[in-house]
Amino acid sequence: MVAYLIVLRRACVLRYLLFLPALLLLAPLSLALELKGHLVQGGMVVGTTAPGSQVMLDGQKLAVTEQGLFVFGLDRDAPASVTLKVVNGDGSVEEQQLEIQQRQYDIQYIEGIPKKIMKPSAEDQARAWQETLLVRKARAQSLPRTDFAGEFQWPLKGPITGVYGSQRVYNGEPRRPHYGVDVAAPTGTPVTVPAPGVVTLVHQDMFYSGGTIIIDHGHGISSTMIHLSRVLAKVGDEVKPGDIVAEVGAGGRATGPHLDWRMNWFKARIDPMLLVETDPY
Ligand SMILES: [Zn+2]
Repeated sequence: MVAYLIVLRRACVLRYLLFLPALLLLAPLSLALELKGHLVQGGMVVGTTAPGSQVMLDGQKLAVTEQGLFVFGLDRDAPASVTLKVVNGDGSVEEQQLEIQQRQYDIQYIEGIPKKIMKPSAEDQARAWQETLLVRKARAQSLPRTDFAGEFQWPLKGPITGVYGSQRVYNGEPRRPHYGVDVAAPTGTPVTVPAPGVVTLVHQDMFYSGGTIIIDHGHGISSTMIHLSRVLAKVGDEVKPGDIVAEVGAGGRATGPHLDWRMNWFKARIDPMLLVETDPY
């Protein structure tokens, strides 16, 4: 209980700190280019530019709609600055250095983990790898939808028990950081859709993540929800906020029932908590 309260308080402090850049929403950088979002590690930034422009982020070409809308995400360990380059229809070039706020993440050191938890069997590792490939394939898509530009809502209301970016070091060995936001709820609690999109992956029981669903919001922005006891939606379903697509569980490697909601921009991990305006409880 004590540990849980600490996590919760950290989550609130984090929200408060991150609110500042949210309020300083970026002023138009030029007449043609406008950015909205969080220039912080884990942030998502939605931009508009003159129709017919090309946009590059650190040399990577972004998809731009006919109306000039584009999006990019900033990974957990995004550098302190990135370069946004816009080539307008008339050939003129604008280049902006964007400063990215750096975050501090919770690192926990845990000793004395039994060996069987440290190393899955060769068979389980092979299975997990196949599942990883399925997830990567779903997240690599760039669908021509612009649901990312709308509002996001919590897929579930409940206490936050895990936050984006935190990391555990077991027996001195750093594990992959935690990329989702965990919301505690009993097994069977309905999980709803955070933003409109199309379902691109459904799996009832992955080795690490249990019941898993991926909803694509366009241009590489996707939601992944894991440890589900049951996924109710099918691949190809068009879904909207409020639709019930799954039920909370403790599937895969989970210590207890909760929802783990993750967000990606392709491979880059972004922080779901930066996308929702309200508290989750
Ligand atoms: Zn989690």
